[in-house]
Amino acid sequence: MTVSITLPQLVPSGTCLQCDVCCRFPDPDSALRPYFTEQEITRALAGGVEKTAFPNLRGSQVVLVPDLGGEGYRCPAFDVATSQCGIYEHRPLDCQLYPLALMWDATHSHILLGWDTKCPFMREALPDEIQRHANRVIALLDQPSVREQVVAHPRLIGRFQEDVIVLACLSSLTEAFATQWGPSPLHRLMLEDIPYVTMMLDRSGLCGPYSLAAYSPVYHYIWTGVLSYWWVELHGAVCLFAQSPDGWFLSLPPIGPGSIEGPLSDAMELLHRWNGNVPVSRVENVSSPLAPELARLRYRLTPKEPDYLYRAADLAALAGDRYKSQRALCNRFEREQSWVVASYQAGDRQGCRVLLREWSYQKQAEGLDPFGVMLLADAESAHEILWSQVSVLPVRGTVVRIHGRVCAYTFGYWLTSKTFCVLVEIADRTFPGLAQYLFREICRTAMAEGADYINTMDDAGLPGLRASKQAYHPAMLIPNVIASRVCES
Ligand code: SF4
Repeated sequence: MTVSITLPQLVPSGTCLQCDVCCRFPDPDSALRPYFTEQEITRALAGGVEKTAFPNLRGSQVVLVPDLGGEGYRCPAFDVATSQCGIYEHRPLDCQLYPLALMWDATHSHILLGWDTKCPFMREALPDEIQRHANRVIALLDQPSVREQVVAHPRLIGRFQEDVIVLACLSSLTEAFATQWGPSPLHRLMLEDIPYVTMMLDRSGLCGPYSLAAYSPVYHYIWTGVLSYWWVELHGAVCLFAQSPDGWFLSLPPIGPGSIEGPLSDAMELLHRWNGNVPVSRVENVSSPLAPELARLRYRLTPKEPDYLYRAADLAALAGDRYKSQRALCNRFEREQSWVVASYQAGDRQGCRVLLREWSYQKQAEGLDPFGVMLLADAESAHEILWSQVSVLPVRGTVVRIHGRVCAYTFGYWLTSKTFCVLVEIADRTFPGLAQYLFREICRTAMAEGADYINTMDDAGLPGLRASKQAYHPAMLIPNVIASRVCES
């Protein structure tokens, strides 16, 4: 059972309408975009918000759309013409609370109610007035039915923000969270977690030249617009969970220096608690060295698409008969076009966005199957994250411009000092040889910087993608396995 929650508005609407802070965000995956519960999603859909705004209809942060009038992004419910919320009467609790905010403390052990100083009104309001409003909100959150609803949606609790002034520590809500979700606090996977997760991967000994591309936090982080990723430390190992529309799963085996048995057992218990008896609890991206241990622990192992690993020298040279067609296409592109290759810059974002849209049309016109179309739609948010955060992510972006227009781009990352992973490559299909040319350039650059291997990830089960990856003659297909408990599979 869920109840409809209605909070009084603290900020006068006249002040709100003149302000340009709310409902607009600098990045597509802004941690501050509002979270909608299942019931709130139902009401938003009835109010005219598109279904595509919610990756998970059981509860998710809204998918932002580019703010065509400005540089950033906006909530799809925001009416640009009137500067008002299009579903104001049914806006989610997350929005009703603002400029108050629920967040974890800096050590992620207690839930706090705070006051966001980013709201200009909060700098003018009388502290007494804010505190009185906060007390009303605290009383509401103490009602068992409301608390239950908040606890069912852990993403309603944001991460600690230094510019939010703490008004109260919410002990009973914290306790209710521990009862429901376990004593170890869950952390949402954030940009600032990437160095820590990378360090734990290094310490796990799971990373080497033949590792799966998934053994990097970047691989998961770019999908945070589609899935929500959370991590928790269990027995000294990082357990990275993903929440999909079907339920929760471990997107990597536990990462740490010791045995995986203890953390894996606890992580599977958490999955069982969150998913119930739905047979979705599983461990994805189990690599070959770990598979025997999981088999010993009585997990069922199911192979999935392997990663494609190539010798960098092969792809940089494209020598010999076996690369004849790719070489011919590269030569044709060089002969017919006048182009510039450059590092991706923030100003390329709009050009890349236009190219991705055109490329999607081209792929669909060629008869992409429904699964491929769905993958394309999902990929958009991952590309947005790459375009907008390339300067702070450990990734490299490269673009090809023809007559000043972005006609191809690629992003990749170093999995180890010897293996470079190509995350995405998009090339205008009306220029023969452009894709082959860009791929060869990336491999040449990576090789010059020390790469022995190029990993292009898996083929997602798409026959066309498989054929083009095979045509480059991989040195190795890196096995990838999904592990599930025998009784749950
Ligand atoms: S739901 Fe309404 S109030 Fe909330 S962010 Fe979107 S437009 Fe703004």
